[in-house]
Amino acid sequence: MLNIRIEPTKQKKQKPEQSKLGFGQYFTDHMFVMNYAEGKGWYDPRIIPYQPVSLDPSAMVFHYAQEMFEGLKAYKAPNGEALLFRPQKNIERMNNTCRRMCIPEIDPDDALQAIKAVVDYDSDWIPDAPGTSLYIRPFIIATDPRLGVHASKTYLFMIILSPVGSYYAEGLNPVKICIEREYVRAVKGGTGAAKVGGNYAASLLGQKKAEDKGYSQVLWLDGVHRRYIDEVGAMNVFFVIDNEIVTPALDEGNILPGVTRASCIELLKSWGYKVSERKIAVEELIEANNSGKLNEAFGTGTAAVISPIGELIDGDNVMELCGGKIGPISQKLYDTLTSIQWGKAEDPFGWSVKVR
Ligand SMILES: *Cc1c(COP(=O)(O)O)cnc(C)c1O
Repeated sequence: MLNIRIEPTKQKKQKPEQSKLGFGQYFTDHMFVMNYAEGKGWYDPRIIPYQPVSLDPSAMVFHYAQEMFEGLKAYKAPNGEALLFRPQKNIERMNNTCRRMCIPEIDPDDALQAIKAVVDYDSDWIPDAPGTSLYIRPFIIATDPRLGVHASKTYLFMIILSPVGSYYAEGLNPVKICIEREYVRAVKGGTGAAKVGGNYAASLLGQKKAEDKGYSQVLWLDGVHRRYIDEVGAMNVFFVIDNEIVTPALDEGNILPGVTRASCIELLKSWGYKVSERKIAVEELIEANNSGKLNEAFGTGTAAVISPIGELIDGDNVMELCGGKIGPISQKLYDTLTSIQWGKAEDPFGWSVKVR
């Protein structure tokens, strides 16, 4: 149990209009902060006014990127309760990331307590318009003021909160995804399975290239063979080939194990679909498309939940999927997951966790 000290803000901010939230543009009145020092452990958990952080310019995070982050959401249910979606999965992944980055782990009960406490304290910021939610961003940064390349001995753990809009203004919107043949984001043995800023820094140029051509995201291939599908931007990816639903297996350690991915697999299996986690070569997709067997493709992630892929572009080869429309499996997953997340339907798996 953390003994969380609370310092209320003296001046509450004006809340943005719910129709103009976008993603990650506004932040609530407070944030959670906790320090770490070697020999002392995690200490001084506190909820304080949202404010800038003061760090020494030599703080390790600025130079060697020793940091990690998580992303989950709080949803306002019709009965007014605030709900989290499988937060224990995020906390488990947070500690897996910490181990990979030589960052000290946080007791899972303490982490959940911290998330609930700060969300509850700023619960007036959870929007209630359809499709809106409160995005929760826990993160840890290395703060030792020195330039030697070592794991830091001091850290800051923070949780900031951002009210976010509906990802799609009018229902699900199929996206155009470009297969990236030049750059890679992660390799076997690297940090692809860890949720760290460095993976995103490595992805920016490929993402920019795709955006410049009018595509919304990149489909990454594995960094060793440059042949097998990894994931899409900040989403895991699924394909419906013939009557099999396939998604890349996680065993090489270069793919981020998404909570939405795991939930989709469980839902699909409970509905009786055949789901395979395996290697998917890019040629297999192209052949399946040529023979009319690539029925559907979609990305999964906390931000958009399900992102149907309407077009897959590989150089000059433009593969249109589902006639550029939303496939039936994407739609069913989206409807089911969102109604569980927003507390509008039965929660047969016990995925929702009340904040209070
Ligand atoms: C966060 C993330 C995902 C999606 O994970 P969820 O837990 O479903 O939100 C997928 N890929 C990458 C690279 C990510 O950072």
